[in-house]
Amino acid sequence: MPQVYNWQLGREMSYPYEERHPQWQFAFVFNTNRCIACQTCTMACKSTWTFSRGQEYMWWNNVETKPYGGYPRNWDAKLLAMLEAANPGGQTWSTADKETESKPYGEFQGQTIFEAAARRVGPEGAQAVMGYLPTEAEWRTPNLHEDSATGGKWQPGKFDGSTQLPEHRVWFFYLARICNHCTYPGCLGACPRQAIYKRPEDGIVLIDQTRCRGYRKCVEGCPYKKVMYRGNTHTSEKCVGCYPRIEGSDPELCPDGAPIETRCMSVCVGKIRLQGLVKIGEDGRWAHDPENPLHFLIRERQVALPLYPQFGTEPNGFYIPPRWVPRGYLYQMFGPGVDHAIEQYSCPDRELLAVLQLFRAQRQILFRFKIEQGPKVAEVAVRMPSGEERVQEIFNDTVIGFNKFGKEVVRVTIDEPVFERPKEKHANSI
Ligand code: SF4
Ligand code: SF4
Repeated sequence: MPQVYNWQLGREMSYPYEERHPQWQFAFVFNTNRCIACQTCTMACKSTWTFSRGQEYMWWNNVETKPYGGYPRNWDAKLLAMLEAANPGGQTWSTADKETESKPYGEFQGQTIFEAAARRVGPEGAQAVMGYLPTEAEWRTPNLHEDSATGGKWQPGKFDGSTQLPEHRVWFFYLARICNHCTYPGCLGACPRQAIYKRPEDGIVLIDQTRCRGYRKCVEGCPYKKVMYRGNTHTSEKCVGCYPRIEGSDPELCPDGAPIETRCMSVCVGKIRLQGLVKIGEDGRWAHDPENPLHFLIRERQVALPLYPQFGTEPNGFYIPPRWVPRGYLYQMFGPGVDHAIEQYSCPDRELLAVLQLFRAQRQILFRFKIEQGPKVAEVAVRMPSGEERVQEIFNDTVIGFNKFGKEVVRVTIDEPVFERPKEKHANSI
């Protein structure tokens, strides 16, 4: 198999095809600390793309409650167990040798779904990509175990001190998920018809419906289980990244051709989502672009981390990890960058605090941000995950976001302005 470079693993890995990269890459950051599982994103996607016959169980966007929830059921626990069985005790990271550009989280020393596939030989021979096909029953319950917590010792009349940071003893959190439009997609690598492709202009991964024969190898090969089979058309379907909005070609929403964020991002009530496009350089790596909000959060500050980077697909969805969840669980889910990310998020400096205000401040894709400094307005005592007490200085800075054409499209201050309605003019019914 050809060798390709995976920056999230900090090393080369084998992949069924030669390395090839788009000019821009669709990417997003989800802040798990803020998701309230309202499912507005889920319904926005459903009512746009998957409301027809044969798509009844398709949830291209879903929000599951971890650790027990999952759609399809136990998708991650099952694959993690398969990888562990293929490489017992070997799925580990080395963090001794980190380097910001080429190995920001260190080096993964275990096996990816592409590397472990050769060890899983079935009746059809070895798989191209290690994976499994969920059963129909596993697809039936998109929100099973919602709000189910784990941990702690429950005693009548006692709450067990479970809400103390740095870790809650009783915990759960919401994990919003869509297709990661991976750099090395498992779905694409597994398709024997070469019906799946990655667009050179934005890295969105699509299925050519005229080539698809419904073999479901993509369903098997996507580690995140974000390809779904449609029984009445006998083809597979997946998230299309709302590409007319990304292209700026939606005539109603994008009259001037400026790209707009996807449906699920635009509607997010909890303001957990920021989506955009990152520039890919000639060498296939992320171009150095620290004024791009996503580049800043993911590569500069490393406050947002890939979901299960050890699978090896180089997913382009990144998560700010939940602060209260036991670290062992988070290391497995987001890799060794967790401590650094939570440290950053617990007490953001003024630049990071400003960029965090851009989440859902408007719906055009932001290609650049700028910060105008304001006066100091507060000092806040913060207890860090290590137990250290810090004082966070808050400045009333203004963060400004620019669209693809360099036009200012949003301006947010840290100190949210308060307007009081004049009592003489407006009756107050509250
Ligand atoms: S998340 Fe799954 S469906 Fe989406 S690009 Fe990656 S492998 Fe393919
Ligand atoms: S709309 Fe936002 S807050 Fe609501 S479930 Fe979706 S990601 Fe979470």
